[in-house]
Amino acid sequence: MGEILDFAEAVWIGQADTYAHHPLSLPYGTDQVAESTWFHKFFSNTVIRETSEGLVMVDPSGFLGPEIKFEAVRAVTGQRLNTAIFTHGHVDHCFGVPIYAREAREKGWPPPRAIAHEAMPARFDRYRESRGYNEAINVRQFQGGAGPIHFPDDFYYPDVVYKDRLTIRVGGVTVLLHHARGETDDHTWVFFPDTRVLCTGDLIFWCVPNAGNPQKFQRYCKDWALALREMAALEPEVLLPGHGWPVMGADRVRQVLEDNAALLESIHEQTMTLMNQGASLDTVIHSVKVSEDLLAKPYLHPVYDEPEFIVRNIWRLYGGWYDGTPSHLKPAPEKVQAEEIARLAGGADKLAARALELAKAGDFRLACHLADWACLAAPGDPALARDMAGVYQDRARVETSTMAMGVFMAAARDLEAADRGPDETPTASVVLAQDERGRERQ
Ligand SMILES: [Zn+2]
Repeated sequence: MGEILDFAEAVWIGQADTYAHHPLSLPYGTDQVAESTWFHKFFSNTVIRETSEGLVMVDPSGFLGPEIKFEAVRAVTGQRLNTAIFTHGHVDHCFGVPIYAREAREKGWPPPRAIAHEAMPARFDRYRESRGYNEAINVRQFQGGAGPIHFPDDFYYPDVVYKDRLTIRVGGVTVLLHHARGETDDHTWVFFPDTRVLCTGDLIFWCVPNAGNPQKFQRYCKDWALALREMAALEPEVLLPGHGWPVMGADRVRQVLEDNAALLESIHEQTMTLMNQGASLDTVIHSVKVSEDLLAKPYLHPVYDEPEFIVRNIWRLYGGWYDGTPSHLKPAPEKVQAEEIARLAGGADKLAARALELAKAGDFRLACHLADWACLAAPGDPALARDMAGVYQDRARVETSTMAMGVFMAAARDLEAADRGPDETPTASVVLAQDERGRERQ
C-alpha cells in the first residue's frame, strides 16, 4: 500500500481521526487503488483510469493548483486525456481540462472532451452573476474572515451534457454516469463495472454530508440518500470520494454508503414529520436529533457541515422563508431591536457582561445573542467590541465544523477590526486551525 491508502486505513481503524486530519487536509499524494486506476488525494480528489484509448479522469482539478494535479497524473501515466467527467460544478472539481487540451495540441493528439450533468452550465452562469457573494462567503467559510480570496469567473463549460444516466465506452472500458441531486443539483456519480470502482464525487465526504451549508445554494437531502442506496445496490468494491480517502473492500464500502444514507434519511424524516405537524423552524431545529452512534463513525464526524444545518436546508426546500415566528414576518431592524433590549436591560454594557458570563459557563448560543445586541446597541464602543470578539473567538474554538468555525472566526475578526481599524492579518485557513486544535486535544 502507498501513503494515502495507509492513511485511509489509520483513519478507518481510529489511529487518526478527522478532528485532527480534516478530509480536505494533508497528507496529499497518489496511490494505485485498482487495476489501471489511481487516486490523487488533494484538497479535492482526482480519479485516473487508463484505457487503450487514453485516460478517463474524474474531476481533473479544482481551479487552484491545476499544475499540481497535472504533475501528479503525469507521474503515474503518460496517456493522453480522452474524457474528463466533472462530478459537479463546485470550483474545486471542474477545472484542469485546458492543460490537457494544450498538451494534446502540442503532441498532435485528439482533444479531450468533458462530460457533466446538464444543470452545470446554469450553475456557471449563476456563479458569474454572484462572484462577489461567493468570494465573501468563501472568505468566511475557509479563511475565517481573513481576505481576500479569489473566486473564478471563467469556467470550462462541458462539451457533452446528459440528463439522467449516460453509459460511455472508452478504449474498451465501460463507464456508467448517474445523475443525482445531493450536494448540488448537477451531481454525477460514476461506476466502472470492470473494476467495481465507484466515484461518488462529494456525495461521500468523510464527514457529515455537506447537505446543510449555511451560506450556499440549495442542497437535496432525500435525493442524496436515495443516490447512496442506489450506489450500494451496485456492490462496489472500491469507493473513491470527492474529498477524504479511498474506502477499500465491498463490506466497508457498503457500510459507508448505508450509514451516510441512514443519517440523511433520519434527518429528513424527523424534519418532515414536524413540518407536517405545522411546527415552527425554531421547534424543528431544536427537536431533530441524530444518532450519536452514526456521528461517532470515523467517516461521519461533523467536521465540515452539521446536522442542524441540514434541517434548515430541508425547511428551505419544502417551505417558504417564513419561519413560523410571527414577529419575524415583518421585523423591526435588528439595530432597533437591540437598542430596545439594551434599554430594558439597563445598557449595552449589561448585555455584554451577561454575554461574557454565559460564554464562561459554556452557553455560547445564548451568549452570542447578547453579544450581537450589545454590539448593535453600542457600535462606537471599542472595548465592548473587543470583549464580544472574545466571545466569538471562544465559540469558534469549541465548534467542530468548518462552517460554524469559519463564520464565528469571521465575526470575531469583524469586531476586532471595529476596535483596531482595517484588518492586516494574513490569510488564515479554518481547516488548518481545526487540525491544529484536534491535535492539541489528542
Ligand atoms: Zn467538493
